[in-house]
Formats: sequence, C-alpha cells, structure tokens
Amino acid sequence: MYLLLGISSSGDAVVATRLWLEKLAGSRTQALQTKLCRQRLRLKIRKVTVPVRKRLWFVCLLALCAAGLGLLLSCEHARGGAFAARKMIILGVDGLDPDLLTKFMAEGKMPNFARLAEQGSFRRLTTSIPPQSPVAWSNLITGMNAGGHGIFDFIHRDPKTFQLYFSTSKVEGPKHSLHLGSWVIPLGSGSAEQLRHGKAFWEILDEHSVPNYVYRIPANFPPITAKGKTLSGMGTPDLRGTYGTFTFYTDDPTAAVGAVEGGEVVQVAVKNNRVATNLIGPDNTFRKNAPPATEPFTVDVDPLESVARIALQDRQFVLKEGEWSGWVPVEFQLMPFIGDVKGICRFYLKQTHPRFQLYVSPLNIDPENPALPISTPTSYSKDLAKQIGEFHTQGIAEDTKALTDGVLDDKEFLEQSHTVLAEHRRAFDAEFPRFHEGLFFFYFSSLDLNAHMMWRLTDPQSPAYDAARAAQYGTALEEFYEQIDQVLGEVLPKVDSNTTLLVLSDHGFAPYRHSFNLNTWLLNNGYITRKAVASGDASEPFADVDWSRTRAYGLGLNGLYLNIRGRERDGIVEAGAQADALLQEIRQKLLEVRDPKDGSQVITRIDLASEAYQGPYARTGPDALVGYNRGYRAGWKTILGAFPADVLEDNTNAWSGDHCMDFTKVPGVLLSNREIEAPAPALTDIAPTILSEFGIAKTKEMLGQSVFQSR
Ligand SMILES: [Zn+2]
Repeated sequence: MYLLLGISSSGDAVVATRLWLEKLAGSRTQALQTKLCRQRLRLKIRKVTVPVRKRLWFVCLLALCAAGLGLLLSCEHARGGAFAARKMIILGVDGLDPDLLTKFMAEGKMPNFARLAEQGSFRRLTTSIPPQSPVAWSNLITGMNAGGHGIFDFIHRDPKTFQLYFSTSKVEGPKHSLHLGSWVIPLGSGSAEQLRHGKAFWEILDEHSVPNYVYRIPANFPPITAKGKTLSGMGTPDLRGTYGTFTFYTDDPTAAVGAVEGGEVVQVAVKNNRVATNLIGPDNTFRKNAPPATEPFTVDVDPLESVARIALQDRQFVLKEGEWSGWVPVEFQLMPFIGDVKGICRFYLKQTHPRFQLYVSPLNIDPENPALPISTPTSYSKDLAKQIGEFHTQGIAEDTKALTDGVLDDKEFLEQSHTVLAEHRRAFDAEFPRFHEGLFFFYFSSLDLNAHMMWRLTDPQSPAYDAARAAQYGTALEEFYEQIDQVLGEVLPKVDSNTTLLVLSDHGFAPYRHSFNLNTWLLNNGYITRKAVASGDASEPFADVDWSRTRAYGLGLNGLYLNIRGRERDGIVEAGAQADALLQEIRQKLLEVRDPKDGSQVITRIDLASEAYQGPYARTGPDALVGYNRGYRAGWKTILGAFPADVLEDNTNAWSGDHCMDFTKVPGVLLSNREIEAPAPALTDIAPTILSEFGIAKTKEMLGQSVFQSR
C-alpha cells in the first residue's frame, strides 16, 4: 500500500503496480490475503467476461485491470479497517507455573509477561483430571474431558491382555512393513492411527475456512488431516519407535552395559586409537528375529589431544571433547532397493582420555524424509527444515533420561535443552511473521521438561538437592522462563485491536520429593494378591499377580482400576454396587495415608471416573484418579505395575519436579490482552473460546464456554 501510493504520486502507476505485486508475491507473509483478493478478482473476471465478445477482449482487459487494482486496494484497505481479518495468537507453554511466573514477574525477570498481566488479564487455569500433558492438551484441543476424548494417562492398558501401550496413538501396518520398535513403517499403504477422539478445534476452524497454524501441539501424532500447516509434537516417536532412546559408547570396563532407562550403553574398545562400532537403528523385520538395523561408524581418537574424528556413511567430522555435532543424517537400509529409513542424530564427545565416552542422541525421524507422518501437509516438515535447518522431531525432545542415567550431566543436559528451545525459536521466527489472519498456535516444551529436571536445584527440601550444583545451575530454570518472556516480547508489538492473544499452560508445577508406590500399598492392604511361587518374567507388568484374588490395581501415573468381571480378563469385582462400595473403601483408606516422617497427608484427593468424566469413554479408563499432595507422586515402578518393597520412598532422581498430582494443586496459567470474564477458567474453555473468537458456535460435546463471556 505504502509503495503503491508513494510511487503513484510520481505518475508511474504501471511500474508501481508491478513493484507492488512483486512485493506481494515475494512476501509470503501476505500470501493469504493476496490469495483471497485473487479469488475475488477471478470471480469478477467471470462475471464480466460472460457477455463480452471476443473482439472486445482488449477493452475488457483494460477494464479488468482497473477493477482488479481497485479490488486489490480495497483488500489492502480492509486489512486495517473495520472489516480486517480476525486474529488469534495462542502461545502454549507446557508447565508454565503461576507461582513461579508471579515470582519472576515481581523480580523484574519477565517484563513482557508483567506488562500483559497488568494491561490484560492473568488467571489460574484449571487443569485436567489427571493433570498430565496428553490429557490436559486433549482437554484443550477438544473442549471435552477424558470421558470425551479417551486419553486418561500417558499409559493405557488392554484389560484383556494387560498389554500396556502409549495412550495417544498406534500404527496399523499392512502385510509388508518395517517395524520401529512397537511401531510399524508401512511399505505401501498402512496407517498410523491417532487414538484421541473428538474434533480438534483446528478441524472446526478448517470447516469454517478460518486459516490456522498449529505447531507441535501434544497428542496430535500422527497429525490429523488438516488444511493448514501442523507439525506433530509430544507423542511422536523416535526412529526406534520409542519416546527416545539414546546410545552411549564407552570403553570403561566398569560401565553397566545394555539397556538402561531411555537408552543403551555399548561397550567399545579403542584399538590403535580407533573405535569401530555401530549405530543402532530400527528393528529390521525383514530379518529373522527382527534384529535392529545397524550402520557402522568409526571414531579416530587423537592420541594426544582431546579431539576425535567421526566417520559415518559418507560423512566425516571432528569433535573436541565437550562438543556437540550438528544434526547428522543417517540412512538404514533394511532390505536392498526396497526399504530404507532415514533418521538424524547428534553426537556429543563427552571424553576422549583416559576413558572414551561418546553420547549419540535418539535417532529422530528426519523432517526432510519423514518415515512416519509428522506434518500437514506432508511436505511441511521438509519445507521447515529447509528454512531453519534440521530439528528434533521426537515428541519429548529434551533428553531427560540421559540425565537421570548419569550419561549427561547437568551442564550437558542444559546444553541439549537450549538447543531444543533454539530450534523452537527459529521455527517461531520463521512462521510468526507470516501470520496475518486466523489462528496461530505455537507450543513450547522447555519450561515443563526443565522444571521436571532442575526443580531439585531450587528446592533444599528435595532429597536430590545438591548445594554446589544449586550454586552453579540453580537459575537454569528461570533462564528458560526469561526466554519465553523474550518470545512474548516478539509477539506483543503485533497484537492490535483486532487480535486476541492467549498465553496459557496445561498445568503448573510442584516439588516431587517422595514416591508413593500405589501397587505396593494395594498389596499390603489386601487388594492385590500375588502367587506364592514366582513364575514367568518378573519384569513384566503385574508379574505373579493372582488375578483371581485381586480386586484393584494401579496403572499409569494416577490411575486406580478395579478388577471388574467381564471387563478385565480375570475380573472378580461385580460392576455396580459392589464396585462402588469397594472404590469408596479404598478412597477412604488412601486419603488417610500419612507420611511417617512428618505426618503429611500423601493423597489429598481421589476423583471417581463416574463423577469426573462425561462422554462415551468415561468408563473405559481408570475407575478413580489418585490426586497426590504437593511433594508426592506415584513411583516410577508402580506406574508400570511393579511392586517395590516400600510404599513410600525418597525421590533422589534428577526428575524432581512434577505435576501428576491433585489437579487443584497444580493449576496452569491463562493470560490475555483482553478482559477474561471467567473467574475460574478451565482448559475445557479454550476450544469454545477459540471458536467464539471466529463467530463459530461450540459443539454440543464441549463442556466449557468462552472465557470472555460473562457468566
Ligand atoms: Zn510434564
């Protein structure tokens, strides 16, 4: 507009128009607006050309040019006028805690949040039951609770087989397929299936032709069909079909070799200053017993200096001790000429001498050649990688397990975490300037994962507290908060009177100082009976449980299930009055549990599914949700159906902050540039709010209402 007027005044309208059109064409930020204008232009052409004879084409063309120019002008004018397109920006910041935010704002560390809170609104946002990210984001996505969308936990079970599976997705393979751990890469047709039910808010926006962009929203793998650009996030597996499996190579003879939680330790030998070993890829089901595919690589270690040269396929690069590589592409050939799978990984040379230590990140699905669907359109992940470079595609990209296993230390984990946030910010900087109308949703994982891992360094009461490390890294978490504030600083100048901004989190945070082993408690209290003689694999979930004498069991981070006749394979509890009475009895007893150390109540709330959930899936998940007090959480082993000796244990793990607790104790946040009318907004209000902003009625299944509506 400015260019057109500026040059027009010089009298050279033709040049000006061409320049302006070039500017429009070159500016992808305006592409959508231009497209709309062109559509209207085409309509105009059709209307005008029908009655006109061919020989009049030249006159007509001139007229059309004038009409077109006028229309372009009016389009441009409309953008700033009363009919300008509605815009909504949502920053989804996983784990952004209201108390920490309030503290950092008061300390002047988050000036942009402080400005938004002061000029707009800042509320606590009621989270989901249970307050776990896949459940919480599904509440936000669908406007329903777990009864409607069917996601109750990270982990679900098949009641007939007691097979456990990730709650949000599964892959159906055709006859010929490549397996990635529990996943299958179909050769030809076959499909990954998303298990979340209910319509996502962006599906409804698509139906109403509201442009939208959705970056890495959790519980959207594989991404549902969408008109706009979406990239899958939490729930996206690595190339081995896990939530992330690193590899650690060492020549340390004392190292515990083999599978560790979240990774694998491989023993290597340094011979003539060279390590020759293999990168471990996805399972190759074309071979007998489906061994993992491997690709050889070598590391030449300098005998004197702390450097090494790594050679993998056609690539060579040198790393100094303490240095990370960039993304390295790798191709696994599973069957000659038919099946190859591409991934990307990063190398970290932890030590050259006296011991050789090399960390290799989980193999991420290559965004330039995705083995499984991770974006809409399919080409989007490639386009984004071309603009910002390769990036983590794995759902939970921060390698928390490498830290808890001691493979990475605090400094190294933080370096890796900062890389993840830097990638998010590069994607943000590439996409946000293009946003001109409709909805822009962008997700950040950093506050959640770093609060999980770094909480102990801010909490002297944590059994994992270490004063020396706290002095060094005690401000690490707030530095991530400050970066999110910087992102908000980029957003605020673009928020005009026609824009609604929401900054929100799915839940807050609390210390996780002690583990409660629910299954051990159920065993000790006679609700679970184990066979007298152990049989089978003791590492299997619920190993040696005598189901004919077991009435209840715990599974997942908050789930309490009854062993219901007809539902569970060997169920013995009758649904109805018997089940209800048993649940009430267990609930009462669990609420009475006290920590013998200081008398603290361990469990402050238990929600029954029959009361907490509405919708067709209300009774397919846990029968009750255990709400732990701040400071307590289900122990890692009980989650997967194991029985540690003690009911209560100190949590000395680096994973020291959490939120899988009593949902009233870990609310999220909701900030907006507009006045929020709802006194106690909830995650289930967000989808209705989004629709309402675009004049779309909420669906009848949605439980909440727009937070801007008075109630
Ligand atoms: Zn979390």
